[in-house]
Amino acid sequence: MSFLAGLNDAQRRAVDHHEGPLLLVAGAGSGKTRALTHRIAHLIGEHGADPSQILAVTFTNKAAREMKERLELLLAQRLAQSQFGQPWSTLPPVEQRQLRTRIYREVTKELWIGTFHALFARMLRYDIDKFKDKEGLTWTKQFSIYDEADAQSLVKEIVTQELQLDPKRFEPKKVRWAISNAKNQGWFPDQLAAQVDGQRGKLTVETYRRYRKALAANNALDFDDLLLLPVQLLQQNEQIRRYWHNRFRHVLVDEYQDTNRTQYELIKLLVTDGREPETFEDWQGRSVFVVGDADQSIYSFRAADFTILMGFQDDFGDKASDDSTRTMVKLEENYRSTSTILEAANALIANNTERIDKVLRATRGEGELITLTRCDDEIAEAEAVVHRMRMLEAAHPEFRWGDVAVLYRTNAQSRAIEESLVRWRIPYIVVGGLRFYDRREIKDVLAYLRLLVNPADTVSLLRVINVPKRGIGKTTLQRLADAANQLGIPLWDVVSDAEAVRSLGGRSAKGLLQFCELINDLQCSSQDQIPSEMIQQVMEKSGYISELITEATDEAEERRRNLQELVNAALQYQEENEESNLEGFLASAALASDADSKDTAADRVTLMTLHSSKGLEFPLVFLVGMEQGLFPSYRSLDDQSSLEEERRLCYVGMTRAKERLFLSHASERRLWGGMRQPAVPSLFLAELPEGLVQGDLPQIGGVALRRERRLDRLTRVDRADNQRIKVGGVSGAPSNAVRRRQAGPAPGKAWVVGDRVVHSSFGEGEITHTFGSGEKVSIAVKFAGMGPKILDPRLAPIEPL
Ligand code: ATP
Ligand code: MG
Repeated sequence: MSFLAGLNDAQRRAVDHHEGPLLLVAGAGSGKTRALTHRIAHLIGEHGADPSQILAVTFTNKAAREMKERLELLLAQRLAQSQFGQPWSTLPPVEQRQLRTRIYREVTKELWIGTFHALFARMLRYDIDKFKDKEGLTWTKQFSIYDEADAQSLVKEIVTQELQLDPKRFEPKKVRWAISNAKNQGWFPDQLAAQVDGQRGKLTVETYRRYRKALAANNALDFDDLLLLPVQLLQQNEQIRRYWHNRFRHVLVDEYQDTNRTQYELIKLLVTDGREPETFEDWQGRSVFVVGDADQSIYSFRAADFTILMGFQDDFGDKASDDSTRTMVKLEENYRSTSTILEAANALIANNTERIDKVLRATRGEGELITLTRCDDEIAEAEAVVHRMRMLEAAHPEFRWGDVAVLYRTNAQSRAIEESLVRWRIPYIVVGGLRFYDRREIKDVLAYLRLLVNPADTVSLLRVINVPKRGIGKTTLQRLADAANQLGIPLWDVVSDAEAVRSLGGRSAKGLLQFCELINDLQCSSQDQIPSEMIQQVMEKSGYISELITEATDEAEERRRNLQELVNAALQYQEENEESNLEGFLASAALASDADSKDTAADRVTLMTLHSSKGLEFPLVFLVGMEQGLFPSYRSLDDQSSLEEERRLCYVGMTRAKERLFLSHASERRLWGGMRQPAVPSLFLAELPEGLVQGDLPQIGGVALRRERRLDRLTRVDRADNQRIKVGGVSGAPSNAVRRRQAGPAPGKAWVVGDRVVHSSFGEGEITHTFGSGEKVSIAVKFAGMGPKILDPRLAPIEPL
């Protein structure tokens, strides 16, 4: 068995190209990622490259995980052949498992495959203590990684507490954005000062200065730092740079079109050891391999720059030779989509001017026409989408919910779709909702763990010092924080000074002593315990779990389940990383992004933004909200180059589909919580070749559907065969807000546990809890087929039954 099997000639050339630079450019679904994966296997299996010499960059953590799995299988199959002379499929499962374990031990665990952030965070764990900051700040190897929410709360603290500014006029979110922007330009506070003016500018610079200091004082880095510090470190320290340059002899990057300047600098420093790329000629036993598609560059708002892709050959290529094909391979066949889908996507992207035309031929049959549906409004659209899914399910025995993806331009669009899915009882997952790691209980427990590793992390300390409640007063904490500031030491050093604390006396002192004892105790056990056990210990010894148990509400129960899931995440991390430790687990938790949701195996519909769909594929794809101002977005309407980026996004979305593509748009939509607005079909629809689209479908009447739904709720009619098709829209339907107000019961109504209610979206349910009283009452309602919902009866569209 060769690693070249299952590849076409051009892919083979890319895989077999052993040394030097190579650029692989090709359209969507042409097997770029597949070629990259096989190339790694080939380097190891054929050229004897040491796995620890390979660095491969993926766009998401999930893609990294999939790539490792795929590699493991490829290499295990090869081993089966050479050891037993037997094809993989004929080996008993036990032996297959043994081989995979062996490959894992010897190969995959040595590989550095991950996102830019994950890889360079890992590198900093080795060398950050040797980093010389321009302003003299320092970090240790135990550094914490602050996610966006942590970073924002730190900025807010500086703005409101230290600078005593009004957060309404000087918005922390905006300042945080300005700081991040400055960091991405590589500007220090004094350099930012040269760019801004006025009082606001001055305050931004001051906040930036303090923010940097605060991060260092907490021994913490934000996401921007994870790339910037490595660049600066590799630039300033020749010895360290040489080490990593010598170590990573083969560098591979997927989705290179969405690389930004900082990421490019990192690749350049590693590959060329700081020399100018065009003069770097020593490729013996080395390579740099990047793959991408300029037509799929969709992250310019995060400073991605696809001219980097286009400049690759000039940067790394062999200047002496005129033959540019030596350093570039093109793939021209698409293996993913039907020819109908592909032709439509190609026709669409041909409208862009900022591009190099390329060939992308279909290898699959024609398939079915693309379906275009026009609906009255977003609710009718959601109903139409979900109804279509049910029809497909009924018509095709092999249909799986996991085959379906609904893609949209903005996160907010998921709500309408979700409500329809719930009503039709279809399992689904929203990629990019509230991140698992953003939930309160998860952040609390992670803060404990961070504190154990990095006691200087004051943000984490403050998060948990009184959670669960230990009676530590606010003023006491403030006094201690002031003392720490004055002494220039971390708050933990003050808090853990038992003598000083005892002298405070009172309840606070008792609470503080208890807390320190807890942390010291946990720290002792953290030496010889694995992350999953540490999480258990933190939850138990801190009293967090027992508090949730005492609370005994459904919400507390859900939090407890989430914490159990955190233990599972740690177990999974331990499985994937043999030398697992708490720092490593915390880094992986901090870097887990919304597109990484773990169980793709579950059979459910995927809902996600077009941006997160990059690199993925699904048999059935629904692209909703194809309207001017939504997609393409409002902001791109009078700017040619943003419009082209939106078109690339549409190209990405369409090319996710393997078998069928469904497009829809509404004639009226409520946008950003505002009024209902008439909507015009997207320009992109007009750019699709007519013969490929089955359009002109009868409209699905939103109003009629709404009425039906109400009827259903009350009479429990099965809706599946109750769909009505109506021609023409009806205006003057009551808005949701109006209906809501009408739906709410008279004020002062008493809600009683055990009573039944009906909700306009969730159907019938039973009240399981009431909280508060009078005007402030909230209720928990258990609806059939889903978890309990906490509702404010004055706002929720519910009625007693
Ligand atoms: P994207 O631009 O969307 O990231 P890509 O170029 O990375 O796409 P892949 O995801 O590698 O494309 O491949 C697309 C599909 O085609 C996958 O299902 C893959 O298994 C299949 N494929 C790739 N190469 C071949 C081949 N030579 N023969 C058959 N199938 C292939
Ligand atoms: Mg790909």
